[in-house]
Amino acid sequence: MDLRLDEDLLAGCVSCGLCLPHCPTFRVTGEERYSPRGRIESMRQVHLGGRDADASFLDVVDTCVQCRGCETACPSGVQFGRLMEATREALVEETSYQPAWRSLPLRAVGRHRLLLAGSSLLALAQRLHLVPSARLGLPKLPLRRRKLRQTGRDVWLFTGCVMDAWQRDVHAAVKRVVEASGAGVALPGPDAACCGALHTHAGLGDQARALARRTMAAFPGDAPILVDSAGCGAQMKDYGHLLGTPEAEAFAARVRDVHEWLAERLDRLPEPKAGHARPTVAVQDPCHLRHVQRAHLPVRAVLGRYADVVELDDEGLCCGAGGAYSVFQRDLSLDIRARKVAAIERAGAPVVASANPGCQLHLVAAGVDARHPLELVDEAIHG
Ligand code: SF4
Ligand code: SF4
Repeated sequence: MDLRLDEDLLAGCVSCGLCLPHCPTFRVTGEERYSPRGRIESMRQVHLGGRDADASFLDVVDTCVQCRGCETACPSGVQFGRLMEATREALVEETSYQPAWRSLPLRAVGRHRLLLAGSSLLALAQRLHLVPSARLGLPKLPLRRRKLRQTGRDVWLFTGCVMDAWQRDVHAAVKRVVEASGAGVALPGPDAACCGALHTHAGLGDQARALARRTMAAFPGDAPILVDSAGCGAQMKDYGHLLGTPEAEAFAARVRDVHEWLAERLDRLPEPKAGHARPTVAVQDPCHLRHVQRAHLPVRAVLGRYADVVELDDEGLCCGAGGAYSVFQRDLSLDIRARKVAAIERAGAPVVASANPGCQLHLVAAGVDARHPLELVDEAIHG
């Protein structure tokens, strides 16, 4: 089957195996087929060798978290993410890889009012004990959300889909920190409701491209676009590749992870409020910040002004959240998370900072006190 792969990229893997220890699914299964090298070999067999895209192939594709820890570990520079995204898009078009029960909820994610209403209903059902939240790994959802108000046009704040519905208080904290640095914050309308990351990861390329075009139109001008979710930031920085237009390249160049932007303005951030006790905080690097954006160090620069930062000893191994992965690959996701929780326990810090909502909620569901880094900074500045 034609997986529409760049054969130069496919040929780049020399099968050295140096990426294997950095692959979460290989670490928890010990199986070659669940390693980056095994997955690339399976892609070669299907794309070049005439093997069917059968159930076992769909399994090795679907079990990949798309964390891209293999990319930062690979000495040959293999762009595994590009290979996996192209494979999934080809599978969606040629097979039943994404049945309707998996793809339809993703359509709702891009319709913001529907998402907000659905989240509020789910929150109500939680209060009435109609939803097994603990078993589903759901946080306690808000019944109401405070409206965010625009304070200027120096920078945009991307608010997104599920994060805006479930964690608007995090956006509010991020906005207060950005404003404390002296910048006025502009907010997009509902058309910026979804960056399309979940769709790209699922292989739903047409939906992802439509959402990317809609998002770009929602941020006119040339002000920087700050993103407080690592997964969304990684996606929006990749719009140039996704859409292949100069406009998309120019848009992507405006996108910054909010910590990157703040780390360049540390001298403008206020001192901690009088009496603030510096907490000890372990930093969990979201894969899409560390391995994709390669912008995990600014989190330490910003947080380190207000907290004693502790490193985990697992070299940025994935936590197993992976967007919808924790729903569709529940057992693997929990096995991967158990390794992360063990690393957090070894670090001994009472609080964990994670700059991606999916990772943060995945850790909270395991009983970890995980917060967005800028929530902690906001508390230090404003009390
Ligand atoms: S992806 Fe890179 S590190 Fe992994 S086996 Fe291939 S060449 Fe080696
Ligand atoms: S993206 Fe992550 S889960 Fe997938 S093969 Fe690479 S390291 Fe393994």
